[in-house]
Amino acid sequence: MENKKKNIAVLGSTGSIGTQTLEVVEAYPDRFEVELLTAYNNIELLVEQVRKFEPNVVVIGNEAKYADLCEALKKEPVKIYAGMDAIAQCVQMDCIDLVVTAMVGYSGLIPTIKAIEAGKNIALANKETLVVAGEIITKLAREKNVHIYPVDSEHSAIFQCMTGEWMNPLEKVYLTCSGGPFRGMNADQLKNVTSKDALRHPNWDMGAKITIDSATLMNKGFEVIEAKWLFGLEADQIDIIVHPQSIIHSIAQFKDGSMKAQMGLPDMKLPIVYAMTFPERLETTFPRFNFLDYPSLTFEKPDLEVFRNAALAYEAMKIGGNMPCILNAANEIAVEEFLKDKISFLFMPELIEQVMEKSPYIAAPTLEDYVESDKEAREIAREIVKNANIEKIKLV
Ligand code: MN
Repeated sequence: MENKKKNIAVLGSTGSIGTQTLEVVEAYPDRFEVELLTAYNNIELLVEQVRKFEPNVVVIGNEAKYADLCEALKKEPVKIYAGMDAIAQCVQMDCIDLVVTAMVGYSGLIPTIKAIEAGKNIALANKETLVVAGEIITKLAREKNVHIYPVDSEHSAIFQCMTGEWMNPLEKVYLTCSGGPFRGMNADQLKNVTSKDALRHPNWDMGAKITIDSATLMNKGFEVIEAKWLFGLEADQIDIIVHPQSIIHSIAQFKDGSMKAQMGLPDMKLPIVYAMTFPERLETTFPRFNFLDYPSLTFEKPDLEVFRNAALAYEAMKIGGNMPCILNAANEIAVEEFLKDKISFLFMPELIEQVMEKSPYIAAPTLEDYVESDKEAREIAREIVKNANIEKIKLV
């Protein structure tokens, strides 16, 4: 065991994964040193984190908040920058060993690429990065000898199951899915659900974007694409199985038919610690699983006809090229509009499907193509929302 502290950067430090990452750092002060914190908007929490963890550098994504941040931190010995370009530059600092990518959505793409280019290992929580540009990211990581450790609980589970199996290819993986707050509901019952209903997740406490994605099953669709890139799998090797108790975090099946499952109480800190310390496991005080509290673990087939977002994700993955990037952009607009109660739950897949049909397809996109496709798909999505029959899409 090496004694040297791991120097980390936390991108998106004020979000759900970011704050939990810092709780881990706090619990193991002799293990980690925080070099860089970044956030987009929440300067109140960011200031608190800077005082506590004393990073070298802090970056606020939203430049309009720069002056306030400087004022609040004028007595602290920290370098302060603003803007997305600054985040992309600061992740390359020599002192950083590991970058935890915990920002939301497409915004994680460029900083993650810059970090990999600089040879930093990645603890990847921002799954949209792999959805949008999985091919470029994984290729670059191989070239730069960079490890991408999954933080997503399902992918962490598969990664844990694969430990010691490096010579044995995966035959198949099963990504488990809680089913979200609307599990078992039909289209009729979903017609009038609101963002408030969707934000009540039964098992996991997460940020708003991913909680909505969990309710629509888009999160699971994204995780299918994430698994494709992380583990080099084809669509027919990745299955979704609904497991409402969220105890089995996912399952790896090998070519002899043997299956390994990783289980435990749902707590994101577990996959976070594992990604930060692999291959070592640290001692934790997290509550332990008790079989008698869970006399039955159950499994169901996901309903991809009602929860069409996951089916659209499979489709985008099979089409490939820039289609998953278009899917992600359309979904970010759909979630944004649904959170404002501007569009209904059931209009989200309709919107995404229309954007996928209307956006120009590129079979072998470059990074610039992805940036352009993302922008274009968002514009198309906003246009559709603007022109749609409000009576039809609005809540009644
Ligand atoms: Mn997950």
